[in-house]
Amino acid sequence: MVQTAARMEMLPFSEIRLMLEKATQLQKQGKDIIHIEIGRPDFDTPQVIKQAAYDSIARGNVFYTSNYGSPELRKAVAEKLQRDNHIAYEPEEILVTIGVGEGTYAAVAAFLEPGDEILVPNPIWLNYIHVPNFFGAVPVSYDLKEENDFQIDMEQLKSLITPKTKMLVINTPGNPTGTVQSRETLEALAKLATQHDLIVLSDEIYEKLVYGGAEHISIASLPGMKERTITLNGFSKCYSMTGWRLGYAAAPREFIQAMVRVHHYINTCASSFVQEAGITALEKAEPDVQEMVKEYARRRDYMVQALNDIPGVHCKTPGGAFYVFANIKSFGLSSNEMADYLLEQAGIATVAGSAFGTQGEGYIRLSYACSYERIVEGMARMKDALARLKK
Ligand code: PMP
Repeated sequence: MVQTAARMEMLPFSEIRLMLEKATQLQKQGKDIIHIEIGRPDFDTPQVIKQAAYDSIARGNVFYTSNYGSPELRKAVAEKLQRDNHIAYEPEEILVTIGVGEGTYAAVAAFLEPGDEILVPNPIWLNYIHVPNFFGAVPVSYDLKEENDFQIDMEQLKSLITPKTKMLVINTPGNPTGTVQSRETLEALAKLATQHDLIVLSDEIYEKLVYGGAEHISIASLPGMKERTITLNGFSKCYSMTGWRLGYAAAPREFIQAMVRVHHYINTCASSFVQEAGITALEKAEPDVQEMVKEYARRRDYMVQALNDIPGVHCKTPGGAFYVFANIKSFGLSSNEMADYLLEQAGIATVAGSAFGTQGEGYIRLSYACSYERIVEGMARMKDALARLKK
C-alpha cells in the first residue's frame, strides 16, 4: 500500500462531487434526475469566445506565455478592472491563473505561515477551509446567518480577530447563499481590515451575476484597500467557461511577485490560446453575459417563489450568483438526509448545506444553472415529495 503524506488528511473530496456521483449512478440505472446541485452554468461558452480560441490556435499561438500571463491579457484585465470595478491596476499587478481555484491556492501558499489564522465565511465554498489546512494555517469561521440576510456580522467578526489573524476571505456575490454584501458591510470590513492590518482575499467570481438592482462592489475600490487586497476573479461562471480554466489575481506588485512563484511551480502559465480567448471575453462578450443574466434572473424569480410556496420551506431572494439557499429545518431531517431523500424520492439532485460548513446545516443549496423547464419540473416534484414527508 502506498503511504500518502500526512498532510493529505487535510484534503478530503468535496461533498458536492459525492452528490454528483450518487446522482450519476441513479441516472445510469435509468432514473430521470434533475440536476440542480452543480455550480456550473448550463449555457455553452459564447460563440465569439470560442471563435477567438480557434483563430488563436490556427495562428500558431501554441507556446508558453510569460509565467505571469500574456502581456495582452494582463493589460485587458487591468482595463476591465478600471472599467467595471473602478480600481486602477497596472498590468504588472495582474497574475493570470488557472481559475480562482488556483488563485486561492497561490494566495494561501504565498502568505500564510503554519499557525496563522484566516477568517473564512461559514457557509462557504470549502476550498477556503481545506487549502489553508493543507498549509498548516488555521481557518476561523465567521457566520453568515439567514436572520442577518446572510450579511457579515461585524460584531462577531471583530470578536474573532487575534494577534495571529493574517487574512480575511470574503466572497460576494457568495456561494452558497447567493448573497451580495452591501456597501455598508464592505465599508465596515475595510475599516476592520485596516485597523488590524489584514490581507483581504476577495473572491468575486460571480460579480456579473447580480439581479434586481443588486450592486457588486469590489472591496479593493474602497479608499486604502487596494494596498491590502488580493482580488480573485475568473471566467468560469460569468462567461460560462468552467472547462477552460482561466482566472486572475489582481494585487499590488509584491503580492503578485510572490504568488507567481507558486503558480510557476504548478502550472508554468495558463494555456496560451485560452488566454487569447479571455481577452475576447473581456472585450466582446458583454452582450452574451447580459443575455445569460436575464435568463438567470427569470429562473431565480421562479425558483424562489416556488420554494416559498412549499409548506415547510422558505428562502430569501438572493441578489446574485446562481444559487438559492433554502431553509428546510421544519422537516426535522439533517440537510444530508434531506438531500438524499430528494434524490431518492423525487429524482432531484441538490447539495446539503452542511457541505459548505456548520452554518449550512438545516439548508439545501439549489442551483438555477439548469433550464427553466427542468426547474419547473423539479419544483413540482419537490413539492410532492415534501408533502409526503409532512404527513
Ligand atoms: N470561488 C467560488 C466561490 C466558487 O463557487 C467556485 C466554483 N464552485 C470557484 C471559486 C472556482 O472557480 P474556478 O473555476 O475559477 O476555479
